[in-house]
Amino acid sequence: MSMKEAGTNTTMMQKNKTKGELLVVSGYSGVGKGTVIATLMKQHPEYVFSVSATTRAPRPGEVDGREYFFLTRETFDKWLAEDRFLEHTNYLDRCYGTPRDYVETKRNEGCHVILDIEVEGALNVKRACPEAKLLYIIPPSAEALISRLTGRGTETAEQVRGRLNKAVEETAVIPNYDYVVVNHEVQVTADEIHALVTGAEKPQLSLEEGIELACKIREDLTAYLKNPTNNDNINRKAIYDEEISMIHPSYSELMTKINAGGTGDDPVVKSRYSIVMGTAKRARQMVDNGYMEQEEHSRKPLSIAVEELDEGRIRILSDKEYQMLRAQKEEEKAAEEAAVEEVEAAEEVEAEATEEAEVPETEEQKEEQED
Ligand code: 5GP
Repeated sequence: MSMKEAGTNTTMMQKNKTKGELLVVSGYSGVGKGTVIATLMKQHPEYVFSVSATTRAPRPGEVDGREYFFLTRETFDKWLAEDRFLEHTNYLDRCYGTPRDYVETKRNEGCHVILDIEVEGALNVKRACPEAKLLYIIPPSAEALISRLTGRGTETAEQVRGRLNKAVEETAVIPNYDYVVVNHEVQVTADEIHALVTGAEKPQLSLEEGIELACKIREDLTAYLKNPTNNDNINRKAIYDEEISMIHPSYSELMTKINAGGTGDDPVVKSRYSIVMGTAKRARQMVDNGYMEQEEHSRKPLSIAVEELDEGRIRILSDKEYQMLRAQKEEEKAAEEAAVEEVEAAEEVEAEATEEAEVPETEEQKEEQED
């Protein structure tokens, strides 16, 4: 079932529920946004996809009312005059608009409506509908985005560069979004979005952290794009192998393995995201420490970190262990500070004593000292 088919599949059950959320999902081209949305909708029937109207011609396989409402320019202008769009834009000389009615009807039925629109449209939605949640999906790294775009082999090197350039430009609008979500693994990302929409969990990354990561990605993409020969000698097989090795073992498998020793009440890791963050931190540590320069093979640091975790060479601490370790470190620090203070106090006493001993008390002593 396609995303948009699923969007029309609202059940009567959802009627009379509290008003659903309006969710605008944007992301760099190639980040896997479509797959994330499809996964979310497949697992949660309360999400529907808003079908936009456009004046562009249908592509092969596209069905009117499913992918888009395909309108003539006259009809589009008529809808516009009748205020039937929540937002609309002109993109590559074609008109696109989000029909207000569909969005409102579905939200009133209790459905969460997803809009997959370009960034200018997203900002217009926020203006028209301030309660809308704007969510920007980014890749874990520039390298991951480049691999995804080049690895799928559907675009020419020039098209890949165009998409990367657009990603560089689009980074500037991310601070206008409400959330930044890192797409390490489709299922984890879909779960995180659902948790954000339902308010079950706080975002894994604060907006500031997300923006910081996006800026780092922009820097790396800019550096990559400066080299005109990049992209021309892509070894697709190596990229494919690399991607496969990155998902084996999957984060879910790792989570099961890590939690196997613990009790159900106190799992070591409560979500796959802890593993994602743990391995990402370890990967960054390897890069910062120059470990990757010594690595003779061409694997990515994240793959090595996942392997290390799988083989038990690195460990993710449970909250309890982490708290204990922190308390122990704080105790050690306090003891160290107390010892330093003690030494300083002793030195002060000693210095005072020396000074006192040096002060001449009698005229005789004074003369003796002067001599
Ligand atoms: P495409 O023609 O490739 O389907 O879409 C082109 C661009 O238009 C995409 O970036 C898509 O997200 C955006 N788009 C699709 N529908 C709408 C809409 O209703 N409003 C806005 N602002 N952009 C849209």
